[in-house]
Amino acid sequence: MSAVILSYILFGLAIITAITSVKVISRKGEKGRIDYAIFATCICSSWWSFFWAMLFAQTDTTIAWLMRTIGMIGVFAFLICVTYIVVLWSGLSGLWKKCVLGFAGLGVFIYPLNIQPENSIFYLTKFGMSYEFESGLGSNLYSLYCVGIILNLALMLIYMRRNAVRRRERVLSSDLLLCTAVVGFGSVLDTLMPMFGFTAFPGSTLSQALGALVMYEAYNFYNKSRITLSNISKFIYYSVDEPILLFDEKEKLCIVNNGTAVFLERTPEECCKLSINDIFELNKNIFRLRGNKNRVEARCILNQSICSLAIDKIYDEFQDIMGYIIIVHDMTERIHTMQRLEEEKMRADSANQAKSRFLANMSHEIRTPINAVMGMNEIILRESEETETVECARNIRDASKTLLALINDILDFSKIESGMLEVVEEAYSVKNLLTNLYTECQIKTEDKGLYLQFEIPEDMPSILCGDEVRVRQILLNILSNAIKYTQKGGVTLSVRCVSVGEKQVELTAAVSDTGIGIKKENMDKLFGAFDRVDEERVHAIEGTGLGLSIVKRLLELMHGEIKVESEYGKGSVFSVAFRQRVINASPIGSWKAGAEAGRKKEKYEPSFQAPEGRILVVDDNKVNLTVIKGLLKKTNMQITCVGSGRECLEITRKEAFHIILLDHMMPEMDGIETLEKLKAEEENLCRDAAVIVLTANAIAGMREMYLEKGFTDYISKPVDGSTLEKILKQYLPAELVKQKS
Ligand code: ADP
Repeated sequence: MSAVILSYILFGLAIITAITSVKVISRKGEKGRIDYAIFATCICSSWWSFFWAMLFAQTDTTIAWLMRTIGMIGVFAFLICVTYIVVLWSGLSGLWKKCVLGFAGLGVFIYPLNIQPENSIFYLTKFGMSYEFESGLGSNLYSLYCVGIILNLALMLIYMRRNAVRRRERVLSSDLLLCTAVVGFGSVLDTLMPMFGFTAFPGSTLSQALGALVMYEAYNFYNKSRITLSNISKFIYYSVDEPILLFDEKEKLCIVNNGTAVFLERTPEECCKLSINDIFELNKNIFRLRGNKNRVEARCILNQSICSLAIDKIYDEFQDIMGYIIIVHDMTERIHTMQRLEEEKMRADSANQAKSRFLANMSHEIRTPINAVMGMNEIILRESEETETVECARNIRDASKTLLALINDILDFSKIESGMLEVVEEAYSVKNLLTNLYTECQIKTEDKGLYLQFEIPEDMPSILCGDEVRVRQILLNILSNAIKYTQKGGVTLSVRCVSVGEKQVELTAAVSDTGIGIKKENMDKLFGAFDRVDEERVHAIEGTGLGLSIVKRLLELMHGEIKVESEYGKGSVFSVAFRQRVINASPIGSWKAGAEAGRKKEKYEPSFQAPEGRILVVDDNKVNLTVIKGLLKKTNMQITCVGSGRECLEITRKEAFHIILLDHMMPEMDGIETLEKLKAEEENLCRDAAVIVLTANAIAGMREMYLEKGFTDYISKPVDGSTLEKILKQYLPAELVKQKS
């Protein structure tokens, strides 16, 4: 009877441990070595219990021996698995780990020795079938092995407990020590007692099963403190600062994280009593929005912050809605920052506009008197025969040119800064450009007693396409610098022209001088705006430090580059390279001819004459009218001057003119209004005349503005005599123009 009860108990334990093993293996989530080892331990325990139950139920000693033989596989495997688990959990490493695992592995060799029939004598007792060990190698080794395993486990767990840093590790090691003690105590009954001639009681079989269950508990405890997808989401949920609200399918707020409690300044329980409409100002039901994810902006009623709500629907496995997650982004700070930035931008814009207005006014106000000075001076230069007067007038011309260049540099710089400067491409004559440059530089070099040399390849294309004004500005700038910063010797311009692709050339212009040179440490500062290097040496030489900075920016606009080589005290070479399209590839030929031609131009001659040409000049400034008249005197054109827009309209109703030069800034009726009225008058005799604005308004974008308003062309003050002639010639009827031979 007792045998039957014992067998049932052992069968029951076999089933329980088998079920436990299934639970382990079917646990959700990724599995590791520990999971598989626990699974194997439970299976071995189940195996052990099952065959011992069978053993006790036997009456035949041979079958009993067979049951024990099969059951012992579970015993050895159980001990190996448990050792392996404790090694993993205790963190044992290195040689100790190898020794402990190696010792457990010895079970594989002890098993065949232990199961030999002569090692155990089976007989029936009042508990059922049992056995005694015959002392011998197999039995003794097995007993020693069991003691060794128990000792190993106990020592490892003591080691684990002593080294435990966290409380959970201490709890785990205590649980396992208990498990070892239970298994150890049980083993005394059926492993050690039979050695001393006592009947084996299946103590270890019972205790190992209990041990396996304690181990399973320890495993559950270990899993709880292990990071898994299911527990990490909880940690994340509570650790995120952003408020996260979970609503159930009935749209009732059921869980909130700590972020929400802080945001709403309420306890989580108080928060859960609120509905979505108690928290946010909403004009629609945000749970009924289409799609699984939505974003809505709303003001929080409880703390007035402006929020962006990310609403996500959560579905169950049948695709029915389980609830809603709302993640709240508090945008208040961001919106305030954006508003502040917007205000700052508006302030900066208005400061920039004030700067532009100031530049426009300054430019206008300075240009008007310079126009008078330069214009009148030009008339003196053209008309005076007295050498001394002419000399004085030349000096005035040079000084006013410098002043004008300065204003132009400042305006150019502000144009570049505001991104308004554009490259305007047109065909131009290379020879004219070079002649012009040579003439301009020659005057300066002659005055300083320097040589000026232009080395131009004879096969250079005669007509190129590009922004002639800017090309001229770049070359003149580096040539002028070379002359400015050279006291002895001279300046050489060498041009190289290499064809790149079809109808395109790369021009490299190198300007070398024998001047003061630049120190190595100053090379980087050359192109900074308003930066002048080597101040002590150059302060006596006129300059603003803007020239090279403008040259560099212009070249960038033209996709070109500038390089500098210099030896301090010996001289410098500034070379610029940029591409131009070729319009006419016929070679310019000998350069000298051009240079001579340039030199001859010193004495003024009008470029054309047009006695039949009728010009009307409209300007409220009398001096300006005198200047224009004086500058155009030798063209023999019929020039009429009036002082206001009203007079302009009156005269054009009665008389026809080929060209009207119209000032912009005039009292009462300005130039733009005058033009509009003139064009609107059907009877006006000058409706089709070319109306050219003549203005001191020269800031960025003005030319385009005037052309848009209906002007035919634009001339900026101070008026350059030759530019004026060039433009007038362009708009006069060709048959009236008599070219000067
Ligand atoms: P600046 O109006 O002062 O000439 P730039 O921008 O044209 O302004 O030149 C900047 C500085 O570079 C000058 O102040 C001068 O010190 C130096 N520099 C420019 N060209 C030369 C040169 N050919 N030789 C020596 N120094 C030069």
